[in-house]
Amino acid sequence: MPVDKHHEVVVIGAGVSGIYQIKCLLDAGIDATVLEADEDLGGTWYRNRYPGARFDSESYTYGYSFSRELLDEWHWRERFSSQPENLRYLNYVADKFDLRRHMHFNAKVESMHWDEETRLWHLQLEQGESYTARFVITGIGVLSVPTLPRYPGMDSFSGQSFHTYWWPKEPVALQGQRVGVVGTGATGIQVIGEIADKVGDLTVFQRRPNWSTPLNNSPISVQEMADIRARYDEIFANCAESPNGFEHVPDKRGFYALSHDERVAFWDELYDKPGFAILVGNFPEIFFDEAANREMSDYVANRIRQRVSDPQVAEQLIPKDHGFGMQRLPLETRYYEAYNRDNVHLVNISETPIERITPTGVQTSAEHYDLDLIVYATGFDAITGGFDRMQIRGVDGKTLNEKWHNGPSTYLGVLTHGFPNMLMVAGPQSVSGSTNFPRAIEGGVNWVTELLKHVRSQGYSRVEAQPQAEQAWVEEVVRAHEKMLARRSQGWFTGYNSNVSGHEIGTVRYQAYFGGGPKYATILAQSAAEGYQQIDKS
Ligand code: NAP
Repeated sequence: MPVDKHHEVVVIGAGVSGIYQIKCLLDAGIDATVLEADEDLGGTWYRNRYPGARFDSESYTYGYSFSRELLDEWHWRERFSSQPENLRYLNYVADKFDLRRHMHFNAKVESMHWDEETRLWHLQLEQGESYTARFVITGIGVLSVPTLPRYPGMDSFSGQSFHTYWWPKEPVALQGQRVGVVGTGATGIQVIGEIADKVGDLTVFQRRPNWSTPLNNSPISVQEMADIRARYDEIFANCAESPNGFEHVPDKRGFYALSHDERVAFWDELYDKPGFAILVGNFPEIFFDEAANREMSDYVANRIRQRVSDPQVAEQLIPKDHGFGMQRLPLETRYYEAYNRDNVHLVNISETPIERITPTGVQTSAEHYDLDLIVYATGFDAITGGFDRMQIRGVDGKTLNEKWHNGPSTYLGVLTHGFPNMLMVAGPQSVSGSTNFPRAIEGGVNWVTELLKHVRSQGYSRVEAQPQAEQAWVEEVVRAHEKMLARRSQGWFTGYNSNVSGHEIGTVRYQAYFGGGPKYATILAQSAAEGYQQIDKS
């Protein structure tokens, strides 16, 4: 088969990972290109254009740390910057470092096959073009495959309806409209808080409530930004020491060293602090000790009761099946207050399930809701979804999909045996799924780049994880997971997602590494220092 193009390295995805990866490869003098399925760069921040979409990491901890010049130039205008600004930032970075000309858009990789004889990957694009590459680096994100529910009649709805990931670029009329939102994860909670006072009527279809606490966003003045710039080294050092890559540090006094009243006073402070302070800056015991977690959950439940006027609605918004911090914590702005508005209605679809979508709205087992617009904030085929959507065929023709049918299996979240020369940035079982994303991916990209430099300098053309090394890593991933109270959670971390066909409902998939950023960084560094002994090189 004639091949259209060849590069030493093909990077798949021009999101946060791909942008930094191509920069590093070019700096190392390695011939590389980026293939991006969308019509422009930005990944998550290109796609998620729904109202309310914004960081819940402090903006200045989300930006890249690799360039002092970039840090000095960019002014984050809000502590938690919104999607349009985040997309501007990524474009600014790409343009500043002249990366765009190394990116091909509308280039969706449909399949990639390993050829052992030539030691090349053959990539086939949906658009028809084909590529070969010695190495493929995937930067396809952890939440890039949205999933819709499978209600009968979804296509019959006569109004507009879409997943939040596909929120149209063109303005969507909200004023005076009867809007339904299905899903109350981090996305649904952002949308609901943002549009409640902009729509005619808002009906929220909630299956299970999530714990949520205030984002406490604020503008960043020129003066504050100057202070942040002066403290960047300290800020990034804090992030590197924090288990989740945030600037907040866990409270070291010990949950049981304080009285109940002292703990409540501390939680009152945390509740008013920005971002994940209430999660990351809390007592570590709340993640491991059931009694500590229950007390914290009761505290947040009371906060919800204080903010929601109707006690029955408040009770519906308080999770009963998992404790605070056991699923990924959504951060909110005016979310609970939305339910005090006359135009906002909460429907508990665990009690009265959605039976079907009709041409005019949503039919539950109890009632029909007339709607003009349905927004599905129903989550993603998380972490492995992007891999499953490509046909990736490795040594002996086995597909990655087959290998990972019951869950992923990787060496350090970067390599997987049987698929030589495929390197994953933010891959399954890396720390990226469970941490402040860019903080983790910078480390991942640096490691992959150093590995490639090493391999090339030694004259090797093939790398593959050793099966026993992969097995040991999977065991470490499972060990770290099983230590957490969150092991019982039904959130997307564990792969529990009834919308993904082929995944067993309620089966835990060990998809993310919960050992923490610092430990993960140490393991990566050790592997490099030992000459990547657990990777076969030839
Ligand atoms: P999610 O956390 O998986 O939430 C999906 C929601 O849809 C849940 O409430 C779920 O209910 C509901 N749902 C799913 N399938 C359903 C069905 N068939 N019928 C009814 N309800 C259904 O997804 P997400 O809210 O998009 O968030 C995913 C992740 O994206 C977040 O955890 C976060 O990491 C990231 N995110 C980040 C930000 C940010 O601020 N930077 C913002 C948004 C998202 P159940 O709980 O019952 O399954």
